[in-house]
Amino acid sequence: MKRSRVVIPGGVNSPVRAFGSVGGTVRFIKQAKGARIEDEDGNRYIDYVASWGPIIVGHAHPVVVEAVRSATARGTSFGAPTEAEVLLAERVTELVPSVEMLRLVNSGTEAVMSALRLARGATGRDKVVKFEGCYHGHPDAMLAAAGSGVASLGIPGTDGVPAAAVADTLVVPYNDLDAVKAVFVERTEEIAAIIVEPVAANMGMVRPQPGFLTGLRELCDTYGSVLIFDEVITGFRLGLSGAQGRFGILPDLSTFGKVIGGGLPVGAYGGKRALMQKIAPEGPIFQAGTLSGNPLATAAGLAVLDLLSRKGTFESLEARSQSLAQGLQKLADEVEIPFTSDFMGGIAGFFFRRPPIRNYADVCAADHERFKAFFHAMLEQGIYLAPSGFEVLFLTTAHGDEEIELTLEAARKAFKKVA
Ligand SMILES: *Cc1c(COP(=O)(O)O)cnc(C)c1O
Repeated sequence: MKRSRVVIPGGVNSPVRAFGSVGGTVRFIKQAKGARIEDEDGNRYIDYVASWGPIIVGHAHPVVVEAVRSATARGTSFGAPTEAEVLLAERVTELVPSVEMLRLVNSGTEAVMSALRLARGATGRDKVVKFEGCYHGHPDAMLAAAGSGVASLGIPGTDGVPAAAVADTLVVPYNDLDAVKAVFVERTEEIAAIIVEPVAANMGMVRPQPGFLTGLRELCDTYGSVLIFDEVITGFRLGLSGAQGRFGILPDLSTFGKVIGGGLPVGAYGGKRALMQKIAPEGPIFQAGTLSGNPLATAAGLAVLDLLSRKGTFESLEARSQSLAQGLQKLADEVEIPFTSDFMGGIAGFFFRRPPIRNYADVCAADHERFKAFFHAMLEQGIYLAPSGFEVLFLTTAHGDEEIELTLEAARKAFKKVA
């Protein structure tokens, strides 16, 4: 599809799709079913991208397709409230322990942007702490790179972001509680919020070290700052109650996206009632959206949450993630390739480096050239991994024993090739 680059920048509508870090030819996808995708040339793959997370019950699940079809027939958008929005908000407040009220938006980016505005509006403070290697979509304030020094004021991470837009973003290494403490001591009363991926999944998978999330909670309590868990990936993927349910740590605000839209464009943010009541029209902080709470998206989201609520769903999903992560580790060990793998819920991750992997610097030090070769060796054998060593593997409930076995068979050959 060379012609795509004539009319679309880089030929893609989101940069990571362009195979920039692995090279080679982008696959245009024609159709998908369950755990399998098929490209325009008729090649089939076992899919571990899953639309970068949203697809958790498999592609084109009949229940989701029917929910969207029937919603479509009743009208695609009204700009007035619908019952499904209330049902989805009720469902999320039941499932996610810290969420008492929810506002629907159209993407994870929008959810983060809105949650940050709310935290700033509610505290009357401007500064936000974010962690190096965590991704929160593309609000200007979140496109900050770490400056020099451990807990540094952000500098623009891309052209087009004014220095002023990231001047209030403090970038700290993930899992480094001492660095966060130092920021709070230096800037007492200035910090509106900490935003964190409770399990980092945008620099590969990096777990929070024991005590890290608790420490963030305590700092926010001590200094009157808002703790935001960005659960855009982890929400409804690590379990029905997200990372916060798994770790038993309650943020003040949470952001969602991906799974909550069942493959349609949705985001959401929610949390404590006293905070959420500050959002317009109930409160003074403005946030709006023409297509927010879209009927197709709420139908898909509700259908997916229904399917995920079936007993044993997450247990078997996590068992598959475990088989995959541990299977890959065993194969890498057999050929003595330095390797670390991990898994949680419907996510698995690996790095070509020995443990520990605690932060972005560790991830950067992994062997990304070897990842590149491994990626292509897998793709040739019909296994579609994310085209970057800074991403995770997304599993779905449609990934069965057969898919895991085929993946590990391919990996055995791929590891030999890159050893
Ligand atoms: C994907 C992602 C976002 C951004 O969501 P979009 O829907 O792509 O705007 C924000 N936060 C995290 C943790 C994400 O993984």
